[in-house]
Amino acid sequence: MEASSVESDLVEVLFTEKQIQDRLGELAKEIDRDYAGKDLIIVGVLRGAVMVMADLSRALDSHVEMDWMAVSSYGSGTKSSGVVRILKDLDADISGRHVLIVDEIIDTGLTLSWLTSNLGSRGPASVEICTLLRKPEALQMPVDVKYVGWDIPNEFVVGYGLDYRERYRNLRDIATLAPHVYS
Ligand code: 5GP
Ligand code: MG
Ligand code: MG
Repeated sequence: MEASSVESDLVEVLFTEKQIQDRLGELAKEIDRDYAGKDLIIVGVLRGAVMVMADLSRALDSHVEMDWMAVSSYGSGTKSSGVVRILKDLDADISGRHVLIVDEIIDTGLTLSWLTSNLGSRGPASVEICTLLRKPEALQMPVDVKYVGWDIPNEFVVGYGLDYRERYRNLRDIATLAPHVYS
């Protein structure tokens, strides 16, 4: 990949930094309300959820503990297969606690469906999901998402933690990629 400017790789900004912050602020209000007086631990799914975790957690008023998991789903190409391997497990013991999994995007839902049942088997008080983006395909999976930033069309997006070949994660906005990047 040549060192072209990032700007020229993008077609359309779907969500600006400001829109993302505003929406996360709204979700944080709901989370504060729903978990008032409860022992909440938010679990970020590395690496894509780093930005969402950083901004969502700082928008919360309540005490919250932060932990991380890294998982890899086996599969060919860009589609996940549903077979998931834990690369980094939680440090925390979640038994009896309220767990909120935080992710940046849910596509097929296979990864989060697996993760929810894995964490569910550890005896937590509850396990819920918060995702910034959700694609239509995810609606066909038996995965119950409690907090969604936006539903988006089935397009490949980058920025704000979302990568294409490990690039573009550091963009402040979320945008679609120009076709010349893929070729
Ligand atoms: P799934 O829900 O299909 O199990 O997996 C979701 C994962 O696929 C996300 O965490 C992300 O890594 C990747 N993914 C799905 N759709 C997109 C997209 O539009 N852009 C980027 N950059 N990654 C995506
Ligand atoms: Mg993710
Ligand atoms: Mg990726």
